[in-house]
Amino acid sequence: MSERAVPFHCPYCGEEDLEPYENTHGGWYCRSCARAFVVKFIGVGVRI
Ligand SMILES: [Zn+2]
Repeated sequence: MSERAVPFHCPYCGEEDLEPYENTHGGWYCRSCARAFVVKFIGVGVRI
């Protein structure tokens, strides 16, 4: 199982043109809308 969560779509514009954001754990950069964001794993089977 991979340590890195890979987003399939940008949460802001919905495009798939993503690349890892350097020096930021879990960070991704969207080339389409030029936004950088972090994907954070918060747990399994926990529903609030
Ligand atoms: Zn985007």
